[in-house]
Amino acid sequence: MQPRDLFEKILSFYGSQNWWPGEGFEIAIGAILTQNTSWKNVEKALENLRHNNLLSPKSILNCDDELLVELITPAGFFNLKAQYLKNLCRLWVRNPKPNREALLSVKGIGEETADSILLYLLNEAEFVIDAYTIRISKRLGYGDSNDRKYWKNFYESNLDKDASVFNEFHALFVEHGKRFCKKQKPLCSNCFLVEDCEYGKINRV
Ligand code: SF4
Repeated sequence: MQPRDLFEKILSFYGSQNWWPGEGFEIAIGAILTQNTSWKNVEKALENLRHNNLLSPKSILNCDDELLVELITPAGFFNLKAQYLKNLCRLWVRNPKPNREALLSVKGIGEETADSILLYLLNEAEFVIDAYTIRISKRLGYGDSNDRKYWKNFYESNLDKDASVFNEFHALFVEHGKRFCKKQKPLCSNCFLVEDCEYGKINRV
């Protein structure tokens, strides 16, 4: 199955995911806070920031470090993430439309975070690769690599460069990874992709 057909199939099953939750610079804040934690925890931290009017780069830069750490504590790794947020805000006040290279030069911003910001906040056609995408893609039989660059190149060269498709596709991979293609025990027997999936055909009962 070609990636475009996979996209249509997953989309018709789950429907549009309307990502990313939130709007404006809050998207970039969420992209950092969600590193190594669940979105549920991020929501609590975002709520704290919202409550204190701390959703803009300038307000975060002006915020006392200790208060910032306290407010984002629910998201975990709070000392580091507070620094990462301030690093991003320093870039953003100088350059509110950074390119990928500029984002990746910020300490605390890796490829997944950079591409999430570019795609969901700046509407750039950058395919976001995360653990869900790699796991599902490998099981479907598209390749055996664990390298994010490999998969980014795979999807970007097999799909039209369309930010709206990249946006939806990534969100759908996350949904499918949570609902069926779980890390430990994927639900292959009930999965609507099983006939197109190398792993699923062998592992269904
Ligand atoms: S058939 Fe199994 S391995 Fe394949 S996509 Fe579905 S849940 Fe994942």
